[in-house]
Amino acid sequence: MTRVTIVGAGPGSADLITLRGARALGSATVVLHDALIDPALREIAPAAEWIDVGKRGFCDSTAQARINALLVQHARAGGHVVRLKGGDPSVFGRLDEELEALAAAGIACEVVPGVTAAIAAAADLQRPLTRRGSGRSVALSTAMTRAGELVARRGADTEVFYMAGRQLAALSRRLIGAGWPAQTPVAVVSRAGWPDQHASEHRVDTLPEAVVLHGGRPTVVIVGVGATAVSANPAVLPDNIALPSSTAASKP
Ligand code: SAH
Repeated sequence: MTRVTIVGAGPGSADLITLRGARALGSATVVLHDALIDPALREIAPAAEWIDVGKRGFCDSTAQARINALLVQHARAGGHVVRLKGGDPSVFGRLDEELEALAAAGIACEVVPGVTAAIAAAADLQRPLTRRGSGRSVALSTAMTRAGELVARRGADTEVFYMAGRQLAALSRRLIGAGWPAQTPVAVVSRAGWPDQHASEHRVDTLPEAVVLHGGRPTVVIVGVGATAVSANPAVLPDNIALPSSTAASKP
C-alpha cells in the first residue's frame, strides 16, 4: 500500500494541480507542503494535518533532513502522507533525496507530476517553448550552483533559467559570456500561474531592467526562440517595460 504520495501542486493557483494529485490530496491524513502552495488547496483535504515545511529561514541541509525525517515518521505512524511540492516534484525539487530517504526506510511511494514553472510561464506568455523548424530543444537550468555561484549556458534553442530572480543583472552578463548575442530575446515571468503574475520582455543586454518588475518574486527567465512572440500579440505584456528594438529570434 502506498503510504506516501509525492504530488506536484503546479506553480500557482489551486486549479493547476492534476486530477490525480487532487485525488491523492483528498485521501491524505497528513500533508507536508512547500511554502508557495495556494491555501485554497486546503479545501481538498480539510481534515488532514497540514505541516508547512517550506525551507525559508532554515539552513538548507538541515531543512531537507528534517523533511525527510518527517516523511518517514508520519508514514510509519500509519496514515497517508502527501508531500505537496511546488510545480513538478522532479524539477529542482530535491525529489531524489526524498525518494532515497523513503527507500532507505522501506516505505512505498508514488509520484504525481505537476506543471513546472517554465510550462506555466509559456502558457501565460502564449509563447511556445518549442517551435517547428526553429526551436528543437528546451533546457531547464538552475542559475545557481550549490556553492551559490551564478551560471548561464547556451545549450538549447530555448533556455529556461530557474532561481535567477534576484540576480538578473548578473545573469545578463553571464548569458553574454555564454555566447548569446546581446539582442537575443528574453522573456521574464514571475509568479506564473497566479492571478498576480507579471511578464515582461527584454533582450539579453537589457535584462537588468527586469529587476524593477520582478524583484523578490519567484521568477523564470526564458532565453532564445521560446521568448519570441508568435505574432503581433500584445495581450499579455505590461506597457511599463521597454520592448526590445528587435524581437527577431537569433537562432543559436
Ligand atoms: N519544482 C518547481 C521549482 C522549484 S525551484 C517547479 O517545477 O516549478 C524554485 C524556483 O522555481 C524559483 O526560484 C523560481 O525560479 C521557480 N518558480 C517557482 N514557482 C514559480 C512561479 N509561479 N513563477 C515563476 N517561477 C517560479
